[in-house]
Parts: sequence; C-alpha cells; structure tokens
Amino acid sequence: MIKADSVVTFHYRVSDADGALLEESYGGDPLAYLHGHNGMLPALESALEGKSVGDEFEVTLDPEQAYGQRREDSVQRISPKHVVPASRKSKYTPGMLIQVNTAEGPRDVIVVKAGLKTLDVDTNHPFAGKTLTFAVKIETVREATEEELAHGHAHGVGGHHH
Ligand code: ZN
Repeated sequence: MIKADSVVTFHYRVSDADGALLEESYGGDPLAYLHGHNGMLPALESALEGKSVGDEFEVTLDPEQAYGQRREDSVQRISPKHVVPASRKSKYTPGMLIQVNTAEGPRDVIVVKAGLKTLDVDTNHPFAGKTLTFAVKIETVREATEEELAHGHAHGVGGHHH
C-alpha cells in the first residue's frame, strides 16, 4: 500500500474539463515519485495514499489544486540563449512549448512571439487555469532506498538518473 516513503510508479492520462487528452504516460515509462516528499501535486498525492499495485482511479483537480490560475502579466521577453539547449529550435513559432533556464531551474514556457534576437514567452504553466482529471493506474509500489530518502526523490525508471 502507498504510504510515506513508498516509491510509486504509475501510468496516467490527464484530460481537461472538456475531456480532451492533454498528456499521458502510456507508450513510455510510467512516472516514478517518492510519496510524502512534496514531489507530486498534493491533491494527487492524497488520492494516491493507500492505493495498491493494479488499482485504477480518477481524480479531478481544480486549477488551485493543480497548476494555479493563469496570470495575465506573465509574458516576458527573453534572449534565446536562456532556452535549455535540448529544446533549442532553428525556428521558434508561436504556440511552441520550450524549456528555459530560470533561477529556480528549467521551466516550461510557450512561445508567444519570436523576434530576431528576442523571444516573447508566456511563463504560465501550460496547464494553468485548467481543471484536470487524472486517470491513474498504479504499476509498482516499493520501499524507498536510503539514498532515495536522502535525495528526496525516486531513482530508476521514470525517476531521477544521476
Ligand atoms: Zn537522487
């Protein structure tokens, strides 16, 4: 059963309030996380508490429980040199999802406008303002290793690799 210090892997589908599929893990590795260490949206983590391998469930999170409301003052002009190398493109087009380096680490942003030497990007999380329904299937549950507890995150498939 999932409890504090469990390492959990699960597959998921995320849909918006209209039922449109936004993201899923099927077709790739399941997502791995360390339960009880703030590595997961708190409302999703509460729903996972006590579940076992093979359990399937759905949970709907309003924007406050998920990625917050959209902020309208969130468009920033940046230099393309701040784009994370792995997501650098030869041509940026509006609507493109890229990652930029910030003081708090890499962050997903959406290109609003591409100039010759600047990019206008929307720093709202792509799921901001959305009510999200997660359809979850628990794949594995195990106890965390000492190393994982020390690092505060899960290692291995779907987790962190050092
Ligand atoms: Zn680690």
